[in-house]
Amino acid sequence: MIKIETNKNNGMEDTMENKWIPMTSITSGKGQEVRRDIYCLPIQIVNVCFIGDVDRPNEWVLVDTGMPGCADKIIEAANDRFGENNQPKAIILTHGHFDHVGAVVDLVERWKVPVYAHELELPFLTGKLNYPEPDGTVEGGLVAKMSPMFPNESVNLGNHVAPLPSEGTIPEMPGWRWVHTPGHTPGHVSFFRDEDRSLIVGDAFVTVRQDSLYEVLTQKQEINGPPRYFTTDWQEAWDSVKKLEALKPVAAVTGHGLPMMGEELARDLRKLSAEFDRLAIPDYGRYVDGEQSKQ
Ligand SMILES: [Zn+2]
Ligand SMILES: [Zn+2]
Repeated sequence: MIKIETNKNNGMEDTMENKWIPMTSITSGKGQEVRRDIYCLPIQIVNVCFIGDVDRPNEWVLVDTGMPGCADKIIEAANDRFGENNQPKAIILTHGHFDHVGAVVDLVERWKVPVYAHELELPFLTGKLNYPEPDGTVEGGLVAKMSPMFPNESVNLGNHVAPLPSEGTIPEMPGWRWVHTPGHTPGHVSFFRDEDRSLIVGDAFVTVRQDSLYEVLTQKQEINGPPRYFTTDWQEAWDSVKKLEALKPVAAVTGHGLPMMGEELARDLRKLSAEFDRLAIPDYGRYVDGEQSKQ
């Protein structure tokens, strides 16, 4: 197929257009202030984060951009929180899966703000590389079985996306640093603020059983490894959880599920880190070691 690049999208291509997914949860649209300046908004089955003080409405950033077709919901929530026409200074991405970049092209067109992601994630954000297909055969519930309907195509942000600075800082997020947490994707990152030990996890671990349709719907809180159908390197994913556990976070916002705090977070994350092989790694699946031959 010949790609025709038009100027309509400023060199971008929105592969998420018309990819709306008919899945939701009971918490969709019900935002939660995890810290005074960390607002977590669930959209259908994924979380986006507004980072910034409401008293400084021109100095906030958006972390991740939700499901395909949700740009209006994000803009509405941003208007409610920071006032009309107070756009963020930047969009920061944990990784490029469809449920985290669903609205990114729409939002960049509307807000004209830069996007930052890890260098290793850029091929998946600039139309150069598609993710491996979601694994519908992986051990797990109905969402895993349905996952082949999830898009794995790369969006194309063109020159609107830039790599996160190599020294670990995050543009427009003073006090925060990024931590490379690969395994779920090669350039997956989490964000940590040392001052109050706040952690934005992305999908390095999540607090809901994301492969189960019922548990996604009810958002029953339970620490889990990264969503199974999309995770391709389980050893790296384990190392990433160990890395995050070593930070001893006291508040964690994950890409899926409700935020987790305090002693519960400490205990559950310690357990996940120690028993990742039993709790997180599926018994079978296309991307589980030694299972490729069975496909
Ligand atoms: Zn993901
Ligand atoms: Zn996700």
